[in-house]
Amino acid sequence: MKWYPIPKWIPFKRGITLWWPWRREPRIYLPKSRTSDPGRLERTLDHEAVHCIQWRLLGRVRFAWRYLTSQKHRLELEAEAFAASVRWWPIGTLLKLGPGLLGRVPPIHYYAHALSKGYRLKYGVSECREAIQRYL
Ligand SMILES: [Zn+2]
Repeated sequence: MKWYPIPKWIPFKRGITLWWPWRREPRIYLPKSRTSDPGRLERTLDHEAVHCIQWRLLGRVRFAWRYLTSQKHRLELEAEAFAASVRWWPIGTLLKLGPGLLGRVPPIHYYAHALSKGYRLKYGVSECREAIQRYL
């Protein structure tokens, strides 16, 4: 999957998918922190690939409008994308950290926490967890 280094003028520490008006396709931008670790890169690309599909299905304007103006829509769009990361997590983590971690850190909780804290949402961890589970 093709991706690009995140431009310096975008102050973003996570991956981001943008569909510029002058581009034919949405583009995935990733910061160095997400690309230096192969497992993290795969998980992030899975997440951003879902946003690419969402952009295409909803159209440029509708996706951007919903994402930027509606907490409920942003929750659902991100929950669907995080579900892709959750599905990938056991294999990637097993390869990297060994089976011991699988029993200790429920991946869905990790992503529910990230969703609750990192996206300017009013929803708590349990609501974010339920949203992600709807897409699993
Ligand atoms: Zn996302």
